[in-house]
Amino acid sequence: MTNLVGGEIFIEVLYIIAVGLFILSLKWLSSPATSRRGVFAGEIGMLLAVVGTLFYKGIVDYKWIAIALVLGRVAMTAVPQRTALSHAFGALCVTLVGTAEFYLRTPTVPKFTMSVLSLEVILGGLTFTGSLMAAGKLQEILPQRPITYKGQNIVNLGMLLVAIVIAVMLVLDPSRTGLYPPMLLIALIFGVMLIIPIGGADMPTVISLLNSYAGLSAAAMGFVLDSKLLIVAGALDGASGFILSVNMSKAMNRSFTNVLFGAFGQVQAPAAAAHETRPVRSATAEEAAAILAAANKVVVVPGYGMAVAQAQHKVRELYDALTKRGVDVTFGIHPVAGRMPGHMNVLLAEADIPYDKLLDMDQVNGDMPQTDVALVIGANDVTNPAARNDQSSPIYGMPIIDVDKAHTSMVIKRSMAPGFAGIDNPLYYLDNNLMLFGDAKAFVGNIVKELSGNSGGH
Ligand code: NAP
Repeated sequence: MTNLVGGEIFIEVLYIIAVGLFILSLKWLSSPATSRRGVFAGEIGMLLAVVGTLFYKGIVDYKWIAIALVLGRVAMTAVPQRTALSHAFGALCVTLVGTAEFYLRTPTVPKFTMSVLSLEVILGGLTFTGSLMAAGKLQEILPQRPITYKGQNIVNLGMLLVAIVIAVMLVLDPSRTGLYPPMLLIALIFGVMLIIPIGGADMPTVISLLNSYAGLSAAAMGFVLDSKLLIVAGALDGASGFILSVNMSKAMNRSFTNVLFGAFGQVQAPAAAAHETRPVRSATAEEAAAILAAANKVVVVPGYGMAVAQAQHKVRELYDALTKRGVDVTFGIHPVAGRMPGHMNVLLAEADIPYDKLLDMDQVNGDMPQTDVALVIGANDVTNPAARNDQSSPIYGMPIIDVDKAHTSMVIKRSMAPGFAGIDNPLYYLDNNLMLFGDAKAFVGNIVKELSGNSGGH
């Protein structure tokens, strides 16, 4: 008995330290200067929480846990879909635990417990199927385009309402076990219905929202299981996921309701096709190197393509080569460049590019008319001037980096293919724009070679 109490105290202490580290982690993650410490604190916190849980006597089989650890490793660019899968399995776990607790405790479930249990199962169920759908869309196993039909929102809200009514009936009389399976089933179907009208470009925002739901369902499970760790960690997860979704929506100039009900990214293909025959000017690495070397001020605008090509280290070499020649090089970071918030910051930090050279959109846009060259590396949507001046564009209103206002813009990408929003970019046809066709890593590498071949400043 003494041992058991000692063991329990040990686990509780681990949990308290873990919770403290989670809170510090979120605080530190809010600035690039302390973000590494934030990631480390979060990792240690999670390790302590997992170790504490592994000490619980209820765990009988460690084999699956070991397999899951190995399976969890993926490439950086696949992190959004992997995150979606984590939410899906976390939410499935929450739903299964909630279901087991219901059948173990019925018919005498106190009203408060039944309320949080219903919340847990509804949120868990819809997050499970919703996250699977989101992961499928991001991995391109499922169609990215939104699937819509008339009265969709009414059908969806109606389903949710029915699930809530059933939950209320269960709270009033938990012995009506027959009501439980339909409530769960509706939650599962609702998750699918919630995601099908949302286009691929909005998926990262939706994943962040699903993250929030998964956190809230885990917090609800914490009340059912009387686990303080789950309550605190779930609430932190729920709140931070929600704040992140709101920030991402703001960065795309979209309201939350617009992301959830707007069916963004529907049929833009004909517009894109109409532009395909227009001429563009392209240049070689040698020409690009000469233009860059002659510049006083260069702004590099990275995007998803830099991440795919893993070009960040070559970009660092380019930064070094140009600064050595006295060129002022800064980086313009769009809040939704790439496929997750902070994607570019993480990659550029990995290549040791100084933080103070990473400027946010507003800072860099103010300087754009005085910028000699805006070098776009694998970015597309976040530089699309249609967002500023074409009311019919699906991204109209999204703030962009105004590379078209620089004296010259140069765009490294492999082809004229559109970016994530699936739309053409009028920037490419402007007189002061040059297309640098090629893989980002290879092309930047070639520019660096040219620059180091011709030494000297200007
Ligand atoms: P983007 O619009 O998706 O464009 C990326 C471009 O990179 C593509 O046009 C592609 O053109 C090019 N590319 C791909 N592989 C390449 C390679 N190996 N080398 C060179 N270029 C390559 O990316 P973005 O400008 O970063 O914009 C992000 C998009 O994601 C926005 O629509 C944003 O709203 C959305 N989004 C992001 C977040 C977030 O959290 N970051 C959240 C929600 C939505 P080629 O195929 O011709 O090479």
